[in-house]
Amino acid sequence: MATVEELKLRVRELENELIKCKQKQCAMEDALHRPKIDKMSAEVVDSNPYSRLMALKRMGIVDDYEKIRTYTVAVVGVGGVGSVTAEMLTRCGIGKLLLFDYDKVELANMNRLFFQPHQAGLSKVEAAEHTLRNINPDVSFETHNYNITTMDNFTHFMDRISRGGLEEGMPVDLVLSCVDNFEARMAINTACNELGQIWMESGVSENAVSGHIQLIIPGETACFACAPPLVVAANIDEKTLKREGVCAASLPTTMGVVAGILVQNVLKYLLKFGTVSYYLGYNAMQDFFPTMAMKANPQCNDRHCRKQQEEYKKKEAERPKVEVIEVEEEVVHEDNEWGE
Ligand SMILES: [Zn+2]
Repeated sequence: MATVEELKLRVRELENELIKCKQKQCAMEDALHRPKIDKMSAEVVDSNPYSRLMALKRMGIVDDYEKIRTYTVAVVGVGGVGSVTAEMLTRCGIGKLLLFDYDKVELANMNRLFFQPHQAGLSKVEAAEHTLRNINPDVSFETHNYNITTMDNFTHFMDRISRGGLEEGMPVDLVLSCVDNFEARMAINTACNELGQIWMESGVSENAVSGHIQLIIPGETACFACAPPLVVAANIDEKTLKREGVCAASLPTTMGVVAGILVQNVLKYLLKFGTVSYYLGYNAMQDFFPTMAMKANPQCNDRHCRKQQEEYKKKEAERPKVEVIEVEEEVVHEDNEWGE
C-alpha cells in the first residue's frame, strides 16, 4: 500500500499535469480567438465587431461610444439575470468585468438564457468567463467563485470593489446586484454604503412574472435598507422574496427583459444619453412598467447610509445655486424613426 507521502507526491504530480493541460487548452483557444482590437473603429465592414455600436455616434445618440472601454462593472450573481447582463456588457465592449458567484451550472438552469448543458458542474463564474472571453477578447475579466456574505469573503469583496478597476487600485465604476436573495442584497448594500459606491439593484419575483431595476446613489437615493424595492413596489411580504425550500419559478423572458432594462440603464448612465431610471418595474401580467424615485430615509438602519446622507446634504448646500429657467419645448413633428 502507498504511504501518505507517496500519495501526496502523486497528487502534486497530477495537479501539475492538470495545470499543463489547462495551459495547453487556453493556448489552443487563444489561437482560435480573434486578435484584440486596439482602437474601436467606426469603419463599416463585416469584420468590425464594433461598427454597429460606433454607429450610435453617427445617429446622434452617444457622444463618445469608445469611452465604454474605460469602464469597469462588477456583476454580483451570475444567474438568470447576471449572466445575460454580463454577456450584453461584453458584447458592448465594456473595459472590465468582475464576476462574483458561488453556484455551479446545473441542468435546472437551462430554462434560462446563456449557460449550456455541457457546462453543468462547472462554477458559474468559470463557465461564464470562458464563454464571454470567446465572444469578446477585448474585455478584461476577474472572477471570484465565493459567497460574498461570509465574513472573509465580504472583506475581499469590498476590497475588489474599491480597488479592482481597469487600473488596479481604482474603484469599479458600477456594481450590479443580480442576486436572488435578501442576504446577498443586504451585503452589497452595506458594502456600497460604506464605500459610497453607486450601484444598481435588480430582481425578479419568485412567481417569475414581475421584476425591477433600481439605481442607488448612496446618500442621495433610497438604499436597500431605506426601503427594499420589491417589498415597496409589489406590497408583498419580504419573506416571500425567497423562501427556503420553495422551488421558485423562472422564465427566460422575464429574466431577459430585466437584464435588458438593467443594461440599458447602465449604458445610459455610463455613456450619458437619455434619462437614467431611478426605479423601473416590470409587471408581465399587465405589461405595466412603473417608474419612481425614492429619497434616502434619514432613519435608515444602516449608519453608513445616514453618514452618506449627511455628506450629500453638505455637498448640496455648498453647490452654487443655478436659477432654472424653464423653456417650453416646441412640439416638432419629426419624421418618425422607421423612416416612413
Ligand atoms: Zn439607507
